Amino acid sequence: MGEKQTNNHEVKKINRNLIYRYVCKYGRVSKPDIAKALGLSMPTVLQNIKELMDWGLICEEGVFESTGGRKAKVIAPVYNIRYAIGIDITKNHIGFALTDLSGSVLIHTRQYKPFVNERQYYFELGEMAEAFLNKSGIPKDRFLGFGISIPGIVDSENEIITFSHALGITNVPCSMFSQFLPYPCIFTNDANAALIAEMYRISDRSPTVCLSLSNSVGGAIFYEKSNGLEGNPVNDSLYHGDNCRSGEFGHMTLIPGGKVCYCGKVGCLDSYCSAKVLSELTDGKLERFFKELENGNEKFAQVWEEYLSNLAIAANNLRMAFDCQVIIGGYVGSFIEPYLSYLREKAAALNTFENNALYIKPCHYKIEASALGAAIRHVEAFIYTI
Ligand SMILES: [Zn+2]
Repeated sequence: MGEKQTNNHEVKKINRNLIYRYVCKYGRVSKPDIAKALGLSMPTVLQNIKELMDWGLICEEGVFESTGGRKAKVIAPVYNIRYAIGIDITKNHIGFALTDLSGSVLIHTRQYKPFVNERQYYFELGEMAEAFLNKSGIPKDRFLGFGISIPGIVDSENEIITFSHALGITNVPCSMFSQFLPYPCIFTNDANAALIAEMYRISDRSPTVCLSLSNSVGGAIFYEKSNGLEGNPVNDSLYHGDNCRSGEFGHMTLIPGGKVCYCGKVGCLDSYCSAKVLSELTDGKLERFFKELENGNEKFAQVWEEYLSNLAIAANNLRMAFDCQVIIGGYVGSFIEPYLSYLREKAAALNTFENNALYIKPCHYKIEASALGAAIRHVEAFIYTI
């Protein structure tokens, strides 16, 4: 009897979760839609809808245009019932982004704050985070916590940052960063976080590789095993590797005996495709590089031509290895769209099997993707408790 009760309870929770996710995915649905799509009986749907409405997670929002019979009520998600804040730690800046259950950036800010592995830095990080939280004006009882994006290798299981070249740290416990943040904190590698943000917003979760082109080159690999309606938290579908070092595309050898990489080796992709290759020509201002490129700067056109050729090799290599779409992300990813067809042309010319490179996609988020993805981990964890 006890076991049966547990099972009934579990089935009920699964159904409720399914219904909630369905409403979130489609935004505006009717009760008959839900019953039909999920193969549930109307009484089950009605009971769960009532519960979800009592909890404030969904609401009725008018009626659909009638297609003959009685007009069906519109069921819609209520996103502002919970919030999370993402913090993107970089070598010289700290970015903040607020999201709710919709998983979109509501407000964001970025402040100059060079990283130093000292108590004072962590103290100020705590103060800045608290100030951003207060400024956002959200009720504290709706705040899930901070998601923290780190430009380095994050061993989530042991809650330790094993290595970060950008921050110059080795084996630093995550608790150092969160010591002045008295809220739940989740840590995520920056490229993984950016891919979490990208995958959260799209319903088609086909396998995806992200090539992140910021001041260093990184990446992330997404592969969802069960593609059911229930979906899994995106993070659970990221491939982390034996040492949490998956997606370190920046240190694949692109040119044997080539330029010296910051890692100490030569010819790494990072030396040819990091954003610095471009921004070092404009005092670190990548936006200025693209502006001058647009204005016909010949020297920049040459640099960009070479950059795109190298990027095409990298994209084609990833296509050959993973046979899935490749998102171009990071700082350069946010400027890539006008040059996408040219990049695809170059990549297609290298491809053994295809005569186009439509698998190359631009990233959706141009700002604070890593902060957002880190925050979304709280959102996904919350949704799983429903
Ligand atoms: Zn390297």
